[in-house]
Amino acid sequence: DLLSLQGKNIVVMGVANQRSIAWGIARSLHEAGANLIFTYAGERLERNVRDLAETLEGQQYRIFPCDVTSDEDIASCFGAIKAEVGTIHGLAHCIAFANKDDLKGEFADTSRDGFALSLDISAYSLTAVAKVAQELMTEGGSIVTLTYLGGERVVKNYNLMGVAKAALEASVKYLANDLGQRNIRVNSISAGPIRTLSAKGIGDFNSILKEIEEKAPMRRNVTQEEVGDVATFLMSNLSRGITGENIHVDSGYHILG
Ligand code: NAD
Repeated sequence: DLLSLQGKNIVVMGVANQRSIAWGIARSLHEAGANLIFTYAGERLERNVRDLAETLEGQQYRIFPCDVTSDEDIASCFGAIKAEVGTIHGLAHCIAFANKDDLKGEFADTSRDGFALSLDISAYSLTAVAKVAQELMTEGGSIVTLTYLGGERVVKNYNLMGVAKAALEASVKYLANDLGQRNIRVNSISAGPIRTLSAKGIGDFNSILKEIEEKAPMRRNVTQEEVGDVATFLMSNLSRGITGENIHVDSGYHILG
């Protein structure tokens, strides 16, 4: 069964609450039989992740703290994962951050500090984590990250996060080239807009959702589940020939002129 993830250990980074895209990914991976390892940032979120993970029937999940701004945190997190499960087969990176002030008005007003922080958390973290995670992918692996159309084109208010996503998408290609010889694939999913905690920070997010309903080929928005199922495909053997790719799960919106 090419789609089955039975016996595969997969790390899911970035569940904050039940609306998180990471949670949609976790549920889909669980359905496919994967053993899940959750990481979260900040003690505040541990309870949320535990409560959600408890709802996954028969799942022997593990959970570790990992703030991606800290190399020490990343090292101790993946050290603990190595000690507990040894080999991992996949990693879903579902992490981004920008100050609210940098997600409205003019991109030209972006501050040096805001830029550095956002690029660190939203783009560099993929490389920081891939560097450590690949050592645990002794049987090959699949790394998946989440991006948005604002990294390819100017989308109103997306501003700094668009520049971070452009860096993230380029990182996917360079990492794919480095890790391919170790049978580790690196891909991104470009998700359409979805109402999450992070999306709340983007100015006038409702009008972005409305635009998709009116203009996207499928005339509707996408769900966390739909993104989750594509992540499962990218984690599975069905996608074994794909790396360095960016798959749009956006009701087709990206094809419009
Ligand atoms: P979310 O708020 O549920 O998830 C963002 C996660 O990033 C949270 O779990 C948060 O704890 C984590 N995070 C922030 N700073 C961190 C740090 N220093 N260390 C570790 N983790 C940290 O929102 P989401 O929309 O599910 O976002 C997940 C990913 O999906 C992001 O990369 C986002 O840009 C991307 N994305 C979202 C949309 C959308 O419309 N919601 C569309 C396309 C792509």
